[in-house]
Amino acid sequence: MIGIVGGGLAGLAAAYRLQRAGHDVRVFEAAAEPGGLAASYETAGDRVESYYHHLSKSEETIVELAAELGVGERIEWRVGKNAYYVDGVSHPLDTPWEIAAYPHLSLYDKIRLTALTLGIDVRGGRPRRDTYDDIEAFEDVPVTEFLLEHTTRGVYEYFFEPLLDAKFGDRTEDISAAWLLGRIKFRGERDLLRGEILGYLDGGFAVLVDALVEAVGRDRIDTETAVTELSFSGGDSGTVTDGGASAGDRIAPQADGDSTPSVTSLTTQRRGEGGSGTHDVDSVVVATMPDVLESLTGYGCDVDFQGSICALVSMSEPLLDTYWLNIADDAPFGALIEHTNFVPPERYGGEHLLYVASYVQGPTDDLWQRDDDGIESLWLEGIESLFPEFDPDAVTDVRISRNPKTAPVYERGYLDMVVPYDLASAGHPGVYYAGMASRAQYPERSLNGAIEAGYAAADRILDR
Ligand SMILES: Cc1cc2nc3c(=O)[nH]c(=O)nc-3n(C[C@H](O)[C@H](O)[C@H](O)COP(=O)(O)OP(=O)(O)OC[C@H]3O[C@@H](n4cnc5c(N)ncnc54)[C@H](O)[C@@H]3O)c2cc1C
Repeated sequence: MIGIVGGGLAGLAAAYRLQRAGHDVRVFEAAAEPGGLAASYETAGDRVESYYHHLSKSEETIVELAAELGVGERIEWRVGKNAYYVDGVSHPLDTPWEIAAYPHLSLYDKIRLTALTLGIDVRGGRPRRDTYDDIEAFEDVPVTEFLLEHTTRGVYEYFFEPLLDAKFGDRTEDISAAWLLGRIKFRGERDLLRGEILGYLDGGFAVLVDALVEAVGRDRIDTETAVTELSFSGGDSGTVTDGGASAGDRIAPQADGDSTPSVTSLTTQRRGEGGSGTHDVDSVVVATMPDVLESLTGYGCDVDFQGSICALVSMSEPLLDTYWLNIADDAPFGALIEHTNFVPPERYGGEHLLYVASYVQGPTDDLWQRDDDGIESLWLEGIESLFPEFDPDAVTDVRISRNPKTAPVYERGYLDMVVPYDLASAGHPGVYYAGMASRAQYPERSLNGAIEAGYAAADRILDR
């Protein structure tokens, strides 16, 4: 049996691929439901993600998976309108004329910003299209230094700096230019006349999670069950630990004289009175944050993670006229994302759904220290001070999700820190990694990246 630690999209994708190839899999998920960071809330209509989610046009693996699972026709590509709140005014930034009208950048700034987003290096007056092809060459360049050199001070100060500050806070100085270039490439397509094209699933991403769960088999997914320990054996040269698996599952014999132990079983702890259990395995895919991998194997990973706090505010009327609002002014949150300006409110029984979101850099962050009531009152007051016409009585519900590890800090040298898919070479034969610190989740973590990470770990097992 192949044990999968974590029933987020990465773990479910790994389980799905392995099972389709004929392997016996079992997924262990600590939470009450599978889905991980892509979990959803109920509304008066469709379910909606507890953290805002959309797809970029460049992401193909998730689209292919949805098609394979029979829900492909439910992917919708919609315009996700963007605006920037500066000095008390919301500036739409979707069309060329809206960008031309944006008052905080000069014409020259706009030309330099546009050139960068199109991947054209105009330094020295001779446009080059190949400067940014090798993104990894910018891995050690600080993003701030890069922006000041490749755009203008105005672009940096009035466009990128507030965005970087909202995303990375005091870690901004550590972030690599490679991350930014990857992001620019990764964000896909624009409709020149309407704005950025983003994907969503009719019914929410819960539809995809449900389809994966069904394909893997509910009975193969143990929820409220945390994996607490892996046991290794092996010992002498060439020892193979089989655990009763099919021939294809066998762990390759180690080289003569290699006494590296191989994984043989995992121990689980069920929530509450559920007790512990032991399961024989011949391989394990760890599809969690790397701290869980470390606790199970001792494999340490230096990637730092940011936490997220995200409120879903249900309202009887809309607040914004854009989907995504970045905020340059002082505000107690990083962004406002009005989901029902992207997906119509009729899908949610007429509720208008607004995400209020903030990253946190660690447990000592003031915001993290607040309880949910404290966050709710701070954020609703913050909305009122940005939008004096906001009517708090229009708020019918506020639900808050928080998680201390939700996004890697893509700092310089990041690629040297990613966890390999196959940990055999790190001394843990039979252990595979598909969590957020894997290569597929670079330059930005995503649902698509999680699926690719799950597939990559599964493929290493299948190739064995
Ligand atoms: C605020 C926010 C916004 C986002 N926006 C987008 C977006 O717009 N588009 C997009 O594509 N992606 C977005 N993402 C990213 C996306 O949600 C993630 O990349 C993806 O869900 C990660 O999946 P995963 O399976 O790797 O990890 P997770 O979803 O974290 O799953 C890991 C699972 O492992 C379980 N687990 C942990 N420890 C154990 C243990 N010991 N035993 C058993 N189970 C364990 C956890 O409970 C969890 O369910 C966003 C994420 C956040 C937080």
